[in-house]
Amino acid sequence: MKYPDARHCIGGQFVTGGPRFLDVHNPADGSILSRVPLGDRAVVDRAVAAARTAFPAWSGTPVKERVQVFFRYKTLLEQHLRELSDLITEEHGKVRPEAEAEILKAIELTEFACSMPQLIAGEVLEVSRGVECRVERYPLGVVAAINPFNFPSMVPHWTIPNAIALGNTFIMKPSELVPLSAARIAELLKEAGLPDGVFNVVHGDREVAEALCDHPDVQAITFVGSTAVAKQVYRRATGNLKRALCLGGAKNHVIVMPDADPEMAAGGVLAAMAGCTGQRCMAASVMVAVSATDHIVNRLADQARALRAGKDVGPVITAAAKQRIEGYITEAEQAGAKVLVDGRGATVPGKAGGWYVGPTVIDQVRPDMKLAQEEVFGPVLAIVRTGNLDEAIAVENASPYGNAASIFTESGGAARAAMERAHAGMVGVNVGVPVPREPFGFGGWNESRFGAGDITGRSSIEFWTKTKKITTKWNREAGVNWMSR
Ligand code: NAD
Repeated sequence: MKYPDARHCIGGQFVTGGPRFLDVHNPADGSILSRVPLGDRAVVDRAVAAARTAFPAWSGTPVKERVQVFFRYKTLLEQHLRELSDLITEEHGKVRPEAEAEILKAIELTEFACSMPQLIAGEVLEVSRGVECRVERYPLGVVAAINPFNFPSMVPHWTIPNAIALGNTFIMKPSELVPLSAARIAELLKEAGLPDGVFNVVHGDREVAEALCDHPDVQAITFVGSTAVAKQVYRRATGNLKRALCLGGAKNHVIVMPDADPEMAAGGVLAAMAGCTGQRCMAASVMVAVSATDHIVNRLADQARALRAGKDVGPVITAAAKQRIEGYITEAEQAGAKVLVDGRGATVPGKAGGWYVGPTVIDQVRPDMKLAQEEVFGPVLAIVRTGNLDEAIAVENASPYGNAASIFTESGGAARAAMERAHAGMVGVNVGVPVPREPFGFGGWNESRFGAGDITGRSSIEFWTKTKKITTKWNREAGVNWMSR
C-alpha cells in the first residue's frame, strides 16, 4: 500500500481508526493506495464537540483577521499545486490537466473568500428621525458538508473557505472513494494558521452522513452527490430543522443548430462530454441535433475516435461504474440506437487493472430511451435528432433535472430562446460546460438542487450566515415622527 491509512482530523489532531475500513483504489490500474476509516456516530460526536469548542473564539475573530488565514492558504495551494494535482490523479484517476484545473478552481474559490470583508460590509440607514437600522451578519455555528467522489478538491472548496471565513466551524465528510485529498486540505489549513477545531474531517459513508444530519449541534448541512441521496439528506436535515442545501445529479442537454460554427460546436460538445471522463454534474450527456447537422456529428465522432483512454481521458471511478456505463451503451444499442464511436472494453497498455471506458457517441437515440433520460456519469454522448428548435427545447424541458443546458448557434434569436426557455440553472451559449466562475454562483434547478440559493458566490453568504436587524436611537434632539419614539 502506497499510503498509510487515511486519517480523520478532529480538533487539529490527525487520527485514524474505523470502526470499519475500506480499501482506496487507484482507478487507473486498480491498485490499492490506502485504507479509509469509516467513522460512526461516536467519531461524529467528537468532531462536533471539537468544532463547538472552537466556535466562540473563531466567530469572535473579526472577519478581516479570519480571511488572513485564507490569503496564506491560497499561497499554499499555489505552492503545492503539483503535489495536490498528483494526489487527485492517483485517488480519482482524472488526467493531470483536469486535476490541476481542479486545484486552480479551489484557488479561485479561496480568493473569493478572501474578499469577504468587502462583500459583507453591512447596511445602515436612518429610518426615522434619529433612528438607525443596521443589519449585522452572524455565523450559524457548527456546519457540515457531505461531498461526492468526482471532485476531491474543487467541490470541498465550494463550501470550506466561505463558511469558515464567515465565522462558522466546519466538519467535512469526503467521499469514501477519494479520502486522501481531504487530509492535505486539513494540513494546509493548519499550516496557514487556522486554529484547531475550526476545520474537521470525518471519513465515512452513509452512517457518518446521517449522524451529521441528526446531530443537534450541527446547524447547517450542504450535500453534493446523486439526486436519490440528495433527497434523503435534504429530508433528514430539514426534518431535524437544519438549514440544508443539497445538490443532486444531472442530465445536461446541448442543442446544436445547423448554423453553429462546426469547429466550435464539435470541439465544445466533445470536451463537455468526454472531459473528466463524463464524471461531472456539468457534463454534456444529450446532444439535441437540430435538422441538418450531420457535418457536425461526423466531425465530433472523428474527434472522439482520436481521443486516447489513459492519456486524454482518465478511467471511471470503480469497476461497478464501468459496468453500469457499458450497460447503458448496450441497452441503447439493443433498443435501436446507432453506436458511432464505441468506448466499451477500452484498455490501456500496462494498466490492465484500470477501469476505462472510452469516449462513446451514440446516434439515433430516442427521447424515451433510458440513455436519454438517466444520468450515465461516463463519457457517453446520446444524440437525439429533432426537426426544429422548439422540438429541441421540448426535449430539454422534459428532463426532471436542471443543472446545465447549452446551445451552439450563430443566431442571436435561437440563443436567446434557449437562454429563456431552458429548464436549467446554468445555461451556455457556444460554451459546452457553462460553469459560472467566481463571483457568480453555482447551482441548478429542479431535481439537481434541493434548498434555496447557489452553493458558491454571494448566495453562499446568505446560506452560511443569519442576519440580525438592530434599531437604535441615541439622539434625543432629533425629535419624533411616527416610529421614532
Ligand atoms: P453519492 O450520492 O453516491 O455520494 C455522495 C456522498 O453521499 C458521499 O459522501 C457518500 O458517502 C454519501 N452517501 C452515499 N449514500 C448515502 C446515503 N444513503 N445517505 C447519506 N449519505 C450517503 O454521489 P457520488 O457517486 O459520490 O457522486 C456522483 C454524483 O454527484 C452524480 O450524480 C453527480 O451528478 C453528482 N454531483 C452533483 C453536483 C452538482 O453540483 N449538482 C456536483 C458534483 C457531483
